[in-house]
Amino acid sequence: MKIVFATGNKNKLTEIRQIVKDLGIEVVSMKEEGFSGDIVENGTTFLENALIKARTVCSALGEITMSDDSGLVVDALGGEPGIYSSRYMGEDTSYRVKNRNIIERLEGIPENERTARFVCAIACVFPDGRELTAEETFEGIIGWEERGENGFGYDPIFFLPERGISSAELTPEEKNAVSHRGKAIRAMKRQLEELLAGEKK
Ligand code: IMP
Repeated sequence: MKIVFATGNKNKLTEIRQIVKDLGIEVVSMKEEGFSGDIVENGTTFLENALIKARTVCSALGEITMSDDSGLVVDALGGEPGIYSSRYMGEDTSYRVKNRNIIERLEGIPENERTARFVCAIACVFPDGRELTAEETFEGIIGWEERGENGFGYDPIFFLPERGISSAELTPEEKNAVSHRGKAIRAMKRQLEELLAGEKK
């Protein structure tokens, strides 16, 4: 089975390849398959956006297509930045600035109200119209300072309260074991496994 992954992000591609390689699934990027169109991500949820991307590329290429959409949801900010996580304060604004801004907006907010989660939705769309979806979260709190050098994006301000460290202080393997994306990819993998087993019968 070959699956096109609707992303321009090389890290995501490597991660997904690693996880599904024992199923004998080949994962290729949409660019490698020649997709260069625009995708209008105008959904109102992570899952809607993942489905929009996967459906757009699947119907353009006629191939099984997978896509993900993720972001940070901060309860004390009414769910912001949410589906706008990468666009928050502008696509080109550095994460130092974005992270400091979130910490500032939470000034005076006590620990029990600083709850937040990373969310990852994954969709896999087949040319015959079948659709598989998975959504998982990674729960934590927004800290009072940035910590850690690993990871990317909002990791330095996202803390695991039970361990007292930020997700930027986790090794890639530790993060993958507990993260929204790791869990969602594994949930999608289980569904693909079932589907492949069903097709062999
Ligand atoms: P997208 O799924 O590629 O649209 O990216 C969503 C955005 O959410 C990223 O650009 C980050 O700002 C944020 N995000 C998603 N997952 C993580 C994570 O694991 N760590 C830090 N930031 C994340």
